[in-house]
Amino acid sequence: MLAALAAALLVALLAVACGGGNGDEQPAAKLRAVASLEIFADFVRQAGGDRVAVVTLLPSGTDPHTYELPARRVADLTRADLVFMNGLGLEEGIGDVIVSNAGGPVIELAEGLETIGGNPHLWLNARLAARYVERIRDALIEHDPEGRDAYEANTAAYLRELDELDREMEAAIESIPAENRALVTFHDAFPYLAARYGLEIVAVVVTSPGQEPSARDVAELVEILQSQGVPAVFKEPQFNAAVLELAAGDAGVRVLNLLSDAYLEGVDSYIELMRFNLRQLQEGLGGD
Ligand SMILES: [Zn+2]
Repeated sequence: MLAALAAALLVALLAVACGGGNGDEQPAAKLRAVASLEIFADFVRQAGGDRVAVVTLLPSGTDPHTYELPARRVADLTRADLVFMNGLGLEEGIGDVIVSNAGGPVIELAEGLETIGGNPHLWLNARLAARYVERIRDALIEHDPEGRDAYEANTAAYLRELDELDREMEAAIESIPAENRALVTFHDAFPYLAARYGLEIVAVVVTSPGQEPSARDVAELVEILQSQGVPAVFKEPQFNAAVLELAAGDAGVRVLNLLSDAYLEGVDSYIELMRFNLRQLQEGLGGD
């Protein structure tokens, strides 16, 4: 009797909530996802579409290796249904804060994938970026099974774009003269890009971000640039490039940009980031 009354009341309340609607349904509350980097937030939006609202922890242009999380971002974490981060130590300063404050499961996107010496920057190989997106899709489906069809369709469409990007990068980098396919970068973010697309990493300025290179490091770098005939070096906008510019100036080589962990103005998605990198590689090293 009471149960029947409660049910009737619930029906009445629902009718009010729906506003007497002519078929207009109240939009379902979106899944709340948090991603550490804007690149991963892009992946979550691609797979999640309009079922998911995504908050990015790191402000644009920030170095994830040394970043510390302000309190207001911790509140986003506690409200999250799902949290996506890279793992493998990329989010060095905030990993513990993420894990201990997350309101839902924390998915480490690189977990279990084969690494090159434990280096965390797997997404700079478009094929491995696709593995990240598949993992996001699976986590979304597990958390929100009703969205399965949408998540699968969104992901399939995006994986086709990644595949196209991967082939474009492969073909374009193949056209760079073999003797020029050398990378000198600021931090050690590009072993996966190099391995996938046939570039050789000749030198990195700092092996772990947050370190300051010494005068001796700079002298060594100049020596490497001159002896190897490297045509260009690549800075990353989230790091102070003074040292690299100094060495490049001494060695008489060009300085261009490569993007790794963060976007640059005018670059607002992973695919744009990779295409930007490709143009910089072509400009610095040659090829068409
Ligand atoms: Zn990095």
